[in-house]
Amino acid sequence: MSQNPESTEEDFSSPEWIREEVTRLVHMHESGTIPSIVQLGHPVLRMSAQAFTDQLDAELLRAFLDTMKTVMRDAPGVGLAAPQLGIPLRIAVLEDLYPTSEDVSTVRERLPLEYFEVLNPRYTASSERTSAFYEGCLSFNGYQAVVNRPADINTTYLDANGEAHERAFSGWQARIFQHETDHLDGTVYIDKALTRSLCASHEYVRWANADIAEARIGLNF
Ligand code: ZN
Repeated sequence: MSQNPESTEEDFSSPEWIREEVTRLVHMHESGTIPSIVQLGHPVLRMSAQAFTDQLDAELLRAFLDTMKTVMRDAPGVGLAAPQLGIPLRIAVLEDLYPTSEDVSTVRERLPLEYFEVLNPRYTASSERTSAFYEGCLSFNGYQAVVNRPADINTTYLDANGEAHERAFSGWQARIFQHETDHLDGTVYIDKALTRSLCASHEYVRWANADIAEARIGLNF
């Protein structure tokens, strides 16, 4: 048995710490290094993030959003929330322009989602319809599990200029928006998943169909 590492203490909530840490990440990005995505066990992933007000000035916010976009695309992922870089602010970036088969597009209602940025996002279900599919998280590397989510949502958020938006999403786009917004409340998808569906990625290939019918039978969930 190994000795537990010594604990480290940081005040993740102080405005000074947030500004310094964001500045460090932005400098890393600007000097050509892509910051790492923090993994489960990092306390910021389990905190309720602060509403974005004026913690970062406009220039630093812009640079941070650009850093987040690079990290998301490099991963590659379809969304990234600030807590995944260890920053407890209610900010996320989303984009889903990956090619998918016609089968997946239809069954999962996966339509292309142009890049956009959300500050202080919220969502509410706008119908009784739900959908259950496998999803994964860049902060829980190597695993995927089924999450049953509202299939139709109404959302509100601010953009980087502080302008308010209201948008409705369905299907996979709604799933991405919910997944990223949940991160800002310290919720990771595994909290909502059907835990018996959990798959290591190299086992998931058995069940990598457009729907989850075979996985449901094979894994008894
Ligand atoms: Zn995630």
